[in-house]
Amino acid sequence: MGFPATHDDDPAPDPRARPGRRAVLTRALGLTAVAGLGAVAAIGATAGPAAAEGASILASQADWRFCTKCFGLFFRGYSTDGACPAGSGHDAAGFDFNIPHDIPETPTAQHKWRFCTKCFGMFFWGYADNGRCPAGNAHAAAGYDFVLPHDIPEPPGSQRNWRFCPKCYGLYFYGYPTNGVCPAGSAHSVAGYDFVLPHL
Ligand SMILES: [Zn+2]
Ligand SMILES: [Zn+2]
Ligand SMILES: [Zn+2]
Repeated sequence: MGFPATHDDDPAPDPRARPGRRAVLTRALGLTAVAGLGAVAAIGATAGPAAAEGASILASQADWRFCTKCFGLFFRGYSTDGACPAGSGHDAAGFDFNIPHDIPETPTAQHKWRFCTKCFGMFFWGYADNGRCPAGNAHAAAGYDFVLPHDIPEPPGSQRNWRFCPKCYGLYFYGYPTNGVCPAGSAHSVAGYDFVLPHL
């Protein structure tokens, strides 16, 4: 699928495209502690969301990046970079975020965050509609069910100030004086939890 040479992992977020879901085995103990997820799930190549008591394996996907143009979080694992509300594709900078997926939701971790096949952005799939996609109409979900830690301390190896936009349903970085570019018009708005994203 033409992944950049530096991406030696399997980044495909869509299990229909790559049936062999691949668990990324990361610094599970550390991430578990900092994310406050409690007992995490051991996700095998084909397993669904199954909690394994005492498991030290965290399923997560890297190659999620900040876009300098729209301030959104998008998946950088394909040869193209989706659709940016500021025009053409997204432009990556900063941390390589490593996002947990298909593990149980907790009081400090919210699921139903999904990859959009049209814009490559991360958006919240928990409402009847799916917000506003920069590629037109609503976002379209595929792939993993991402579970985002929120409202916990910001430990080393993570970044807070990632927020939900109630206009487009996207996840974007709220840490600057301005709020990027929203596909629903002008800048993103802010609501809900303060998400704390692990990064490599
Ligand atoms: Zn962008
Ligand atoms: Zn979209
Ligand atoms: Zn927005």
